[in-house]
Amino acid sequence: KDCPEEFKKVELEPLPAMTARFLKTLNQICEQCFSTSDLFLSVFFLGQVFHCPSARLQLFGSSKNGFGFRQSDLDICMVLDGQETADVRTRSWLGILFSLRNILPITTAKVPIVKFYHVRTGLEGDISLYNTLALHNTHLLACYAAIDWRVKILCYVMKVFAKMCDIGDASRGSLSSYAYTLLALFFLQQRNPPVIPVLQEIYDGEKKPELLVDGWNVYFFDDLKALPGRWPQHGKNVETVGQLWLGLLQFYTEVFDFREHVISIRQLAPLTTFNKQWTSKYIVIEDPFDLNHNLGSGLSRRMTNFIMKAFINGRKVFGTPVTSYPPEYPSPMEYF
Ligand code: ATP
Ligand code: MG
Repeated sequence: KDCPEEFKKVELEPLPAMTARFLKTLNQICEQCFSTSDLFLSVFFLGQVFHCPSARLQLFGSSKNGFGFRQSDLDICMVLDGQETADVRTRSWLGILFSLRNILPITTAKVPIVKFYHVRTGLEGDISLYNTLALHNTHLLACYAAIDWRVKILCYVMKVFAKMCDIGDASRGSLSSYAYTLLALFFLQQRNPPVIPVLQEIYDGEKKPELLVDGWNVYFFDDLKALPGRWPQHGKNVETVGQLWLGLLQFYTEVFDFREHVISIRQLAPLTTFNKQWTSKYIVIEDPFDLNHNLGSGLSRRMTNFIMKAFINGRKVFGTPVTSYPPEYPSPMEYF
């Protein structure tokens, strides 16, 4: 009710039904091998090349983490049975996909991906190879989304805001949706009282359990039913989503010290840019699992300014009470 009108129109229905249908279709195609889809023909081909007939696909990103829009892309991770990691051979074979229509392989990225567009469903997607950490951070984000309904709305709003202000496309030099989701989650952890806990800091005993994936500890507390008993602040924050949204804009424009601190959702205590030796960038966002990964490392000074200005403008626009409405808009009273 307290959401700005603009965001009331945001499609809040997540993707599961659609993606399930889509994956089912793809699986059928896969079973029939050489039928219509170039994409799955190529997956099948890759499988054959490696003598691993079953290339397995898993969804991650917003179709799984609870922050998906109807227009969101479909992030898919592929692994080949019998092969533990993506080796050089796997990467080079991605080049084969060049010859296929509608498919764009990006082999130079940190995680090699194949972009595609599925005409019938209108879905855009990425298939990455062995993006195993992403499967875990997707699960982490999904848990945060499930803790409190306000988390989902706030992260949606954050993503819509980023897209509308043209600051939410990492392939064009800004930050990814994932980075903005981390920004929103960090704010919700730092709020007083907090809306969400730091799941990576909840565990039994003295020492944090170790669950290593690609050399990084991916442990976090995911028994959400038991969370109220494990986190004393559960349910203490009763702010509305509107208040939190204004709070978020205020936090990143007036409170958070970007020069000094890192945006890190894995610990409650402040983490300094000095500690991480990440002092050359203004916006510094630490990945919750891959601790060497700064999501803001690709930002130019110009883009950083552009992003900060968007937040400042957002703070001004949303924080200014509206006293009159342009005549072409209906009176807000009509909504009540
Ligand atoms: P959208 O709805 O806009 O597609 P999304 O939540 O799927 O949003 P993406 O930016 O498409 O976000 O990222 C999809 C997934 O890829 C993320 O959930 C994360 O697991 C992984 N990912 C994306 N960018 C990064 C990054 N810079 N570092 C690590 N993992 C990333
Ligand atoms: Mg996505």
